[in-house]
Amino acid sequence: MDNYIVSARKYRPSTFRNVVGQKPFVVTLKNAIITGKLAHAYLFCGPRGVGKTSCARIFAKTINCLSLTDEGDACNACESCISFSEHRSYNIHELDAASNNSVEDIRSLIEQVWMPPAIGKYKVFIIDEVHMLSPAAFNAFLKTLEEPPRHIVFILATTEKHKVLPTILSRCQIYDFARISIADMVDHLEYVARQEGISVETEALHVIAQKADGGMRDALSIFDQVASFSNGNITYQSVINNLNVLDYEYYFRLTDCILQGEVRQAILTLNEILSKGFDGHNIITGLSSHFRDLLVCRDASTLELIEVGSSTRERYKNVAQLCSEDLLFRAMELANNCDMNYRLSRNKRLLLELTLIQLCRLTIPVENTAPTATPAKSKDAAPTATESTATAPATPSAAAPQAQAPATSTTAAAPQRSSNLPPSTSIKNLSRAAEATSSTTASTSSEEDYRNLSSPFNEADLIREWDAYAQTVGDNDYLKGTMANHKPVLMDDYFFEVCVYNTIQEEELLNSSVKMLPFLRQHLKNGKIRMSVRIGETTAKKRAYTPEEKFQHLYNVNPALGKLKDEFNLKTD
Ligand SMILES: [Zn+2]
Repeated sequence: MDNYIVSARKYRPSTFRNVVGQKPFVVTLKNAIITGKLAHAYLFCGPRGVGKTSCARIFAKTINCLSLTDEGDACNACESCISFSEHRSYNIHELDAASNNSVEDIRSLIEQVWMPPAIGKYKVFIIDEVHMLSPAAFNAFLKTLEEPPRHIVFILATTEKHKVLPTILSRCQIYDFARISIADMVDHLEYVARQEGISVETEALHVIAQKADGGMRDALSIFDQVASFSNGNITYQSVINNLNVLDYEYYFRLTDCILQGEVRQAILTLNEILSKGFDGHNIITGLSSHFRDLLVCRDASTLELIEVGSSTRERYKNVAQLCSEDLLFRAMELANNCDMNYRLSRNKRLLLELTLIQLCRLTIPVENTAPTATPAKSKDAAPTATESTATAPATPSAAAPQAQAPATSTTAAAPQRSSNLPPSTSIKNLSRAAEATSSTTASTSSEEDYRNLSSPFNEADLIREWDAYAQTVGDNDYLKGTMANHKPVLMDDYFFEVCVYNTIQEEELLNSSVKMLPFLRQHLKNGKIRMSVRIGETTAKKRAYTPEEKFQHLYNVNPALGKLKDEFNLKTD
C-alpha cells in the first residue's frame, strides 16, 4: 500500500499548465515572462497548500528556460530545465524563513546574490514564510532588495501578509493566491486517481476537498491516506468513516424530522450522532450550513453556489422544494442562536435538544387552541392580536427569544403571514401552566395589533416595563427574584440580553418569555422586541455585603437554599 503514499509530492505541478486553481495568477505571470517585463521581487501571499512555492519554482524554471514555448511555458528539455527537474540547478536558492530566520542565514544567502548565473539568465531566491525573518535579518535583506543586480529575482512567500514589513511590501509585486475551489480540487483529484488506477466516487472526493479547506497539498495527502485505508477503492462511505466526517445523511434525516414535526425521532437521531463521538457544536453549525444549502438550492440561479457533487445537488434540490423559504429562514435563525449560545451553555445537550424541538415545531400545526382545527383552518383563523397574546405557548429555549414559532404546514408554499400566527406547542402542560398564571397579559391585551409597531424605547423604559411585569407574576418568587437581580441590557433597537447565574434562572426566564415578551411588546409598542438569556458573569457585578445579600446571592446560585431556609426557619442575620 506504500505505493499510494506519493501523490502529494508526485503531483506537485511542474509546469504552469498543471497548477490547480490559480488561473488568473498564472496568466498574469506568463504574460510578464512572454513580454520580458519581470519585476525584481514578488510577494506570493495566501493560505497554506495553494501552490505558492510550487509556482515560485515553476516561475524560476520558466524564466531560465533556453527555449521557451510560445505560450510562455518551460520546454522541460533544455539544459537549464533538466537541471531544475533534477534539483541540481544553481539558479534557484530556497530559504525557509520559518526555521532559518537569523541574520547569518540571510547573509549567507545574500553572498550568493552577486554571482551571475552560469546557464540561463536569472538567479531566483525563494524565501518561504518571509514574515518569520527576525528584524535584524529583515534589515540585512532590505539593503539587497533595494538595489539588486539585474540577474536577480526574489520571490517571497507568506501565509501572513499583514506581518510583512511595509518597506518590503512596497518593493514587491504582490500576488494574492486564492483558496482552491472545491470543483477545481475534485477535478485534480479525479485526474490523480485516473493516473494511479484508483477507483473513486465523486462524492468521496468532494468530502476530501471540503476537509482540505482550499489547500491542494492537504487534499492530496488526505487522498493518499484514504487510498491506503480503503485499498485503492475510495468510496463516500470509506471517506466518511476514515476522516470522521459527519455524514450529510444525518442532516437530511434531521430535515425530514423537522418537516414531519417528529420531535422524538429528531432527538434519537441527535443521540445517534453524539454517540458516534461527534461534537455537538459541529453538529449545529453543520445543520446551519445544511439549511443554508437548502435555501440556496431553492432557486436555479443560486444552485451553483452549493459545492457538492451533482447527484447530491439533485437531492438538495428535491428536499429544498419541500421547505418553504420562511421555514428555512427560521430554521437558520434557530440554529444560529444555538450556535451563539453553545459555548456559554452549561447543559449543551439540552440546548441542542431544545433547538431540535423548536425546529420540529416550526411545522407543527396549532393544536391546543383549537383541538379540532386542521392546519389549513388554523391558518385562516389566525391573525387577531388577542388570540396570540392570550395563548402564547411555552418556548423553553435559549435560542428563541422570539416566542412565536410559526405554524406553517409542511408544504412548500407556506404563506408569508404564517410568521404572525399564534405559535403552537406540543408541550401542553407547560402552556397550560402559562395560561393558568396568565392574568394581566391576557386581560390587558388590546385589539391594537402591537406586533406591527416598532416604536423606539430606551433601556430605562425597558427596565420599567420589566419591573412592571415582575409585579404580575403572582407567587412565582423565584422568577420575581431573578427579574429583580438581573435587569435587561438593551443591545440594539429592540434586542435585549439578560445575563443570569445559572441554567435554572435561564430556564425560568425563557419559560416566562412566553408571557413576558408579549407584555413588553405591547407596553413598549414594539412588536420586534426580542430577548436572549446568557449565563455568565453579570456585567455590573453586585458585591454581597450584608448577610441578607449574601444569602440572596447564594440563593440565586442555588434556589434549594430558599427551601432549606424556610423549612428550618433560618435567619440570614
Ligand atoms: Zn527549457
